[in-house]
Amino acid sequence: MTDARSLTPKLPVLKLLIDGQQVDPIEGGTFAVVNPATGQKIADVPAGTAADVDRAVKAARRAFESGPWGQMTGRERGKLIRKLADLLYERREEFALVESLNNGKTFKDAIRGDVAPAAATLANFADMASTITGEVLPVDGPFHTYALKEPVGVVGAIVPWNYPTCMLGWKLGPALAAGCTVVVKPSEYTPLTALKLGALALEAGFPPGVINVITGLGDPAGEAIARHPDVDKISFTGSGRTARRLLQASAASNLKKLTLELGGKSPQIIFPDADFDRAVEACFWGIFGNKGETCNAGSRVLVHQDAYEAFVAKLAEKARTMKVGDPLDATTEMGALVSQKQMDVVLGYIESGKQQGAKLLAGGGRDTEGFKAKGCFVKPTIFGDVKPDMKIAQEEIFGPVLSCLRFRDDAEAIAMANSTQYGLAASIWTGDVAKAHALAKQVKSGVVWINCFNEFDDAAPFGGYKESGWGKDLGHHALDGYLQTKAVWTKLPSP
Ligand code: NAD
Repeated sequence: MTDARSLTPKLPVLKLLIDGQQVDPIEGGTFAVVNPATGQKIADVPAGTAADVDRAVKAARRAFESGPWGQMTGRERGKLIRKLADLLYERREEFALVESLNNGKTFKDAIRGDVAPAAATLANFADMASTITGEVLPVDGPFHTYALKEPVGVVGAIVPWNYPTCMLGWKLGPALAAGCTVVVKPSEYTPLTALKLGALALEAGFPPGVINVITGLGDPAGEAIARHPDVDKISFTGSGRTARRLLQASAASNLKKLTLELGGKSPQIIFPDADFDRAVEACFWGIFGNKGETCNAGSRVLVHQDAYEAFVAKLAEKARTMKVGDPLDATTEMGALVSQKQMDVVLGYIESGKQQGAKLLAGGGRDTEGFKAKGCFVKPTIFGDVKPDMKIAQEEIFGPVLSCLRFRDDAEAIAMANSTQYGLAASIWTGDVAKAHALAKQVKSGVVWINCFNEFDDAAPFGGYKESGWGKDLGHHALDGYLQTKAVWTKLPSP
């Protein structure tokens, strides 16, 4: 890995991408994006509005209905997606540098956790593009009846700021493999890599209108996608609050389909017979990796009372010595939170933990030492003796704050694990794997990891139960979300 500080950032062309052209927004506005590690402005980015969204949706519709894209076979689409994946992987350091400067995550996390996984997901869906098949249906009577799988049409991809490139890869991969066309709306906090990826798609040879990128604020740009009557589906990753607005907009317009990947409050459940060293490592990185700005962050650690004191003490010791600092320094373990606004939210939760009587074991506030004086840095924070009804045990903090709770037996562990509105992911750490499988069935979440955490593979679906979302990312489950099924009947001559 190159020393990030020796690289010169290559910012994107600061224009919207519509119908294969890089253009200015109709109303001409811009908004500033800032490096959260230094507080310095990076760029003024075009502020797309409803009029730009309308142009992009029209281009996407034309590309879907009458352009070369609709005539391509799955294999041909796959070749283009593969080209995009290869280009992204080749330029992973270039993308990761911009991502790190814009998001505050470390350069190495930006490569390993964001840009490289996006390329890998695109490559996987490139392969899947040629595997989409229908089926012959065993109906009664003299009929030849089959099911066709067809793309849903124009997709609005609304993306958050925590893994800007990876989340975009998770959406573009299956949408393009299925044959859809896309209007992308990146987060206003981290729009730069989406603009770079749009330009890369042109370089890869995607026909005009297949991928469009509208940067702008949630309202009006995202809202206009949600309300547009000619968008067939929204693929959204973000907060439950925005998801509710999307549902209303869908109901008020054309009942567009929705995939919703939302928040979490994922528990890691530790039994006394667990491999402690591995479990401590997984709990530590499960919350402090990517600064805790991860939907499936292991933000609650539930430890059996016999192991609690020793386990939590080890975690706290690691947190106290974690290296927080310049995201471009290869030795830094945790960078800056994405924005002042997010830092204020996280600091508010830390205050609430203190006020509600949780025991502060590590961190507990902002970090302003040296380089960090002007940035959005928060100390890795651990609370012990957290009670299940405290705010820090119930609500998604989306920052480097861990809540440790104590349980007496299996039943209490499961009750605690299931006691929030969320159900994105969970893990169970024990030497008794049969027990782990039995408990995995009782945990209400879309993913359960046993003796591991944060494992992803393009073959395995990812998505939440309860208020963590609808539908799945990754795997053929994701592809299904961008396809619709048509039954075709032919009457055969009677024998
Ligand atoms: P957010 O909901 O504020 O924003 C997400 C996107 O929605 C942004 O592009 C934003 O501009 C857009 N948006 C905002 N208001 C809108 C509106 N009225 N209409 C249409 N679009 C609008 O979320 P965020 O703060 O960017 O992301 C953090 C959230 O995302 C957390 O809750 C996190 O758990 C969740 N997340 C979930 C997953 C997952 O896979 N389940 C992955 C990453 C993040």
